[in-house]
Amino acid sequence: MTKGIFPIEKIKNLKTPCYYYDAEVLDKTLYALTTAANKYGFLPHYAVKANANEKVLKRIAKTGVGADCVSGGEVLAAVAAGFAPEKIVFAGVGKTDWEIEASLDANIFCFNAESVPEIEVINELAGKKGKKANIELRVNPNVDAHTHAKITTGLNENKFGINLENLQDTIKFVQSLPNVNFIGLHFHIGSQITDNSTFIPLCEAINKLQKELKEAGIKVDNINVGGGLGIDYQDPNTNTIPDFEGYMKTISEHLELLPGQKLHCEPGRSVVGQCGTLLTKVTYVKKGTVKQFAIVDAGMTDLIRPALYDAYHKIENITSDKAEETYDVVGPICESSDVFLKDNKMNGTQRGDILAIRSAGAYGEIMASRYNLRQLPGAVMSDEL
Ligand SMILES: *Cc1c(COP(=O)(O)O)cnc(C)c1O
Repeated sequence: MTKGIFPIEKIKNLKTPCYYYDAEVLDKTLYALTTAANKYGFLPHYAVKANANEKVLKRIAKTGVGADCVSGGEVLAAVAAGFAPEKIVFAGVGKTDWEIEASLDANIFCFNAESVPEIEVINELAGKKGKKANIELRVNPNVDAHTHAKITTGLNENKFGINLENLQDTIKFVQSLPNVNFIGLHFHIGSQITDNSTFIPLCEAINKLQKELKEAGIKVDNINVGGGLGIDYQDPNTNTIPDFEGYMKTISEHLELLPGQKLHCEPGRSVVGQCGTLLTKVTYVKKGTVKQFAIVDAGMTDLIRPALYDAYHKIENITSDKAEETYDVVGPICESSDVFLKDNKMNGTQRGDILAIRSAGAYGEIMASRYNLRQLPGAVMSDEL
């Protein structure tokens, strides 16, 4: 089996479980993102929720891309990591007062608002500070991203966004308030989309909407198409860098921007997914009657995606050259869902081997919990070893 490239001598003494971020992969990914964005005139805002590790954030901020935040904590982390406030957007259905106030104080670019009551509160809090807040309205385009039910967000039945039939009234409402500016529309249809043609219905829905708004005399300065570009979990070794070029080309070809409009996007997973690996040591190899188990020191508390979304992560034994055998790779947590991968073929393993759980840079470390009173996983950037 092909294995990823890891500096074994340097990582073998790390305390596991530990997230290992490959700086070179991250930099190459960022280069691909910014090159495509410059070519097609996109303004990317990295979705901080995918990975808010300080070193990862700083590296992304250095490239000049913006940030997409979904909490006050993320806004503060983005500012601290060096993202320009005028490139920070703040989304989410339940922004609380302190989060709105902190974002106003930070002078972020805009709030992606999702309901009338929220807009009223932003207007009121901005007024108290003598400020005018920019508002993009998150629109529910009722487009199916054909992805996992728990990560599909663009359908009418989801809690996100404002439904199309209420949109014009909501825009007029925003325009009637003294302390907010209506500056654009925001969309996000889901996550881990691997077929770029999935974005075409979104573009078409936006085009249709734009015509209606134009006829109603409503000016829209910014279109934000959200995130959702997927990564190749099956093949991180040869398909490492996501196809930002193809994604942006598809959107550029199908989305009809009006003169002067700016196009924003919010990639999360695609920016950080492949640079991260969860390193874990085999604690025991247990032979059952029909299966053998590799019981590792990482659990669903360190990486919850397999338990939560049935997500696949490739697992390699990076310290063994023995012949392949089949193992269920499981964690130590007292939950039967604490399984990383069933029937995984990997090099024959023994206590002390290091397994690499690949493509774990997005929605990995950030979702770690202390359930079972476990310690949080460690994290290192390759260039600091
Ligand atoms: C989660 C999210 C993103 C990022 O999604 P990815 O699938 O990680 O690219 C972007 N925008 C919004 C509003 C989100 O909620």
